[in-house]
Amino acid sequence: MKYCSNCGTQLADDAVFCTGCGSALQAAPVSPYANPAPVAKESGLATAAKILMIISTVVMGLYLIPLAWCIPMTVSYCKKLKNNEPISTGFKVCTLLFVNTISGILMLCDKDN
Ligand SMILES: [Zn+2]
Repeated sequence: MKYCSNCGTQLADDAVFCTGCGSALQAAPVSPYANPAPVAKESGLATAAKILMIISTVVMGLYLIPLAWCIPMTVSYCKKLKNNEPISTGFKVCTLLFVNTISGILMLCDKDN
């Protein structure tokens, strides 16, 4: 049994269109309560980039001086992800050069931002 992702009407498993609202149905079964709030909209790449940034910041912390930019950049990136704000290309390139090469590459590959 599946449900319309648009209006929540209960439908037959092989239904292609919703009998309630007429919208086309997705292939996967969708329950009416499966639409999560847009809170955790981080993509896998963004999450990986964030984790690597945090790890790099900790490692860079051993050398003290890089903390001056690693901590603000990591905090700023986390805030932007949380608020769904766009990440500028300049920020991504700076991350690539000064914080973590892999994080920067992941951010540049992450098309959501
Ligand atoms: Zn419907």
